[in-house]
Amino acid sequence: MASGWSRDGAVQDQIDASVEDAIKLARSRLPNGEGLTHCEECENVIPDERRKAIPGVRLCVSCQSEYDEKQTTFTSFNRRGSKDSQLR
Ligand SMILES: [Zn+2]
Repeated sequence: MASGWSRDGAVQDQIDASVEDAIKLARSRLPNGEGLTHCEECENVIPDERRKAIPGVRLCVSCQSEYDEKQTTFTSFNRRGSKDSQLR
């Protein structure tokens, strides 16, 4: 049953590799480091407290709530905004 051994080994290697990939992927999706000191949209100062509370924050409170609203109410009807090109 020597052949059975090598096949099991290969399968185990594949499992290990995919677990590693998943960990790498998960890490790459984490917000990297500190957020912005100023809002990406309106350039208002983002308070330190907010930046601590939300790692990788990019928007001030008001822009964030506007953004969230757009995310939930966005339809293909809205053709404005080249910034949203990732929605193509
Ligand atoms: Zn803002």
